[in-house]
Amino acid sequence: MRFPLGFSIAQARYMSSQRRQGRKRFPTVIMLEPLYTCNLACLGCSLERHTGKLKDRLSVEACLQAVEDAGVPIVSLCGGEPTLYPELPELVGELIRRGKYIILCTNALLLDKKVFGVIPPSKHLFINVHLDGMKETHDHVCDRPGTFDKAIDMIKVSKKSGYVTLTNTTVFKETNIEEVEQLCELLKEMRVDGMLIAPGYHYESVERDVFLTREDMHNRFKRVMELSRKYKISATPLFLEFAAGLRELACSPYSTVNFTPRGWKAPCYLIGEKYYDNFQTFWNDVDWAYWESRKDRRCSNCKMHSGFEASAVEVAQQSLKSMIQLAAWHVSG
Ligand code: SF4
Repeated sequence: MRFPLGFSIAQARYMSSQRRQGRKRFPTVIMLEPLYTCNLACLGCSLERHTGKLKDRLSVEACLQAVEDAGVPIVSLCGGEPTLYPELPELVGELIRRGKYIILCTNALLLDKKVFGVIPPSKHLFINVHLDGMKETHDHVCDRPGTFDKAIDMIKVSKKSGYVTLTNTTVFKETNIEEVEQLCELLKEMRVDGMLIAPGYHYESVERDVFLTREDMHNRFKRVMELSRKYKISATPLFLEFAAGLRELACSPYSTVNFTPRGWKAPCYLIGEKYYDNFQTFWNDVDWAYWESRKDRRCSNCKMHSGFEASAVEVAQQSLKSMIQLAAWHVSG
């Protein structure tokens, strides 16, 4: 199975209940960023996500209210670096008590101090380690030597301690695709529970030229499609076809709503055109049809996983062939 059974059932139940209520658009994941503080300043990261002050972090109450307002079963805890959030054990405990599934997105540098031995393993908690290639590339992208070795050590401890352990790899211009295969092989040997491989996001605040051109992206993701037959890659087949330039998809930015220290970020994780304090105002005010259409110039090269994975699943459910392909993908790997 690509994902633990309980997680897949919770997600399927939630989606079918939303459809039964006749909702055309609904969020499936909240990307909750309790802080914009980080212990790294990676080359491809937006400026605000690693320059925020700890004192400006969200309270646990504000985080829980946001999850409640979004109503989703899955919380992707990101930021900033969530292990720097002093109230992390309390927040994770409260989310699990509410039956949520938590994907803790981390650079792994502080897992041994802030998570292992502090927050017990749970079927509801997934440790998701950022790993952008083998040693040289990852350390270059993170702009700090030693981050790759530390991440690999922490993945080993995570697996040994019984945590569901995933990895998240962004493909940049520097990323050599043979190296991605080498990384998949290494992670397979370490019995990692799932690997997300996705194209880099082109933030306007990132001035360095680290992102793939459209053609480069298509070529590399054709190879990632092949790798997904051999490794537990968690992007769906239709998303990978889209990343490889073999099909088009509308965007669904509403599927992964983003709550930050500045409020609800609209329209998406990438573009912060406006921030809202109130979820209902955010939801009703954003022109989702416009952002779905990808007419905006900032959308033209975007293949961001969080914008398009829900669209890929939606399309897969419209044809028998794609549904069979999706079901086979779920049980393989
Ligand atoms: S295409 Fe990309 S940038 Fe545009 S709304 Fe969707 S996720 Fe955001």
